[in-house]
Amino acid sequence: MIKKFIRKILGVKDERDPTQPVVLGPEEHGIDPRLLSPNAVRVTQTLQEAGYKAFVVGGAVRDLLLGVKPKDFDIATDATPEEVKKLFRRAFIIGRRFQIVHVMFGQELLEVTTFRGNALNNNAPKDEHGRVLRDNNFGPQHEDAERRDFTINAMYYDPATQSVLDYHGGIQDIRDKVLRIIGQPEARYREDPVRMLRVVRFAAKLQFTIEPATRAPIPVMAPLINNVPAARVFDEMLKLLQSGHSLACLKELRASGLHHGLLPLLDVVLEQPIGMKFVTLALESTDARVKAGKGVSAGFLFASLLWHQVLEKWNAYRAAGEQPIPALHLAADDVLDNQTDSLALQRRIATDMRDIWAMQPRFERRSGKSPYKLLEHPRFRAGFDFLLLRCESGELDAELGNWWTTFYAGDIAERERLINTAREPAGDKKKRPRRRGPRKTGDDGATQLDSGAQQAASGADGE
Ligand code: ATP
Ligand code: MG
Repeated sequence: MIKKFIRKILGVKDERDPTQPVVLGPEEHGIDPRLLSPNAVRVTQTLQEAGYKAFVVGGAVRDLLLGVKPKDFDIATDATPEEVKKLFRRAFIIGRRFQIVHVMFGQELLEVTTFRGNALNNNAPKDEHGRVLRDNNFGPQHEDAERRDFTINAMYYDPATQSVLDYHGGIQDIRDKVLRIIGQPEARYREDPVRMLRVVRFAAKLQFTIEPATRAPIPVMAPLINNVPAARVFDEMLKLLQSGHSLACLKELRASGLHHGLLPLLDVVLEQPIGMKFVTLALESTDARVKAGKGVSAGFLFASLLWHQVLEKWNAYRAAGEQPIPALHLAADDVLDNQTDSLALQRRIATDMRDIWAMQPRFERRSGKSPYKLLEHPRFRAGFDFLLLRCESGELDAELGNWWTTFYAGDIAERERLINTAREPAGDKKKRPRRRGPRKTGDDGATQLDSGAQQAASGADGE
């Protein structure tokens, strides 16, 4: 005890047998068992009754230790995928690079993984940059812990005994709020460059500091991300944007030089005053939605991030004589073509983005049947939210957003009245009394936005 205390004072790390975990009981780790999913307990119990080891692992243990209800549960076991599959009625082996078993209970999906052997010591196939291509070599539990990414993600919880097994000082790092990669950072990033994106995501999401040695190689090694299959980078980007801390994540991505190749031109976009304001507002509202437990559509997110590229090209096509709607479609094609290779935007997401963008000029037509037709668009709500962001960012006059807010909420008589009073094209600079809709737009904000709106509108229309 005293020896341990002196070592701690001197900052000497305990020399422990790395194959033996520190085991903590309930009074030491303080996990509230009520935060556990009953199905996670059921899976570990079934596996243990069949004679296997089984633990809740990874992000769920981290969240439990932080007193947060985990959003999903991963289970680690020494049973092979085939052995796991036999024990559950609805179980499916999935994945090639990394085989896992999906066990379903009603709507809940639990991922069961077999302990992996250390990728450095085994002969896992790698690409010419050292990236591990497949990792289905099973091994003992301490090796499974060693090949996980961060100390705080490498702990195991046994619901039966309520004990936590900690091989890499994760408990201490949770207490100190430190994100620390396991092993030698360069080697770990080389094996899997996506870990660099995970550093950024977890640091922002948990508000942990990045341990210096974990951070140091990232700016230099960032280009390795380019060798990762686009679909995997896309998945991680989406997790990052939907983490509830997207703005902080993007700032950190830029600071680490990781944004190159993730969203081409993101750099440029973020440096333009109007573009910056739009992206910031979009991400703030995304983060607020995530924190309120609401869903965030990937289409809306990417439509927002890439809007200013579309806007620039839209303006250029219009200046060259194209009509607004075809000009917008051409601009959308250009931007999507440019992004699909690097981001692997799935077709469904690209379609949503195109829908959201294509609706925008239609919001400016406020006469006859047009507004009613637009209301019927299956993605109206997304297009409308997008319009409000454009107004809020100063790109459009706030009056247009207010008009639509009232129109959307109004009854038939109110809608007719609005149509009759809004015949002039949007961007008309005639002063009219401002109508305040149910959506809050502070007067100060509105005044500020107007000047930006006129600037943007005159640039946009060229009319
Ligand atoms: P989240 O709360 O975002 O789901 P998580 O930690 O559960 O966070 P997952 O991507 O679900 O993240 O991964 C589950 C666990 O698998 C991690 O906690 C970590 O132990 C391990 N892991 C995931 N990705 C990697 C990786 N690229 N390299 C090493 N270990 C990884
Ligand atoms: Mg998880």
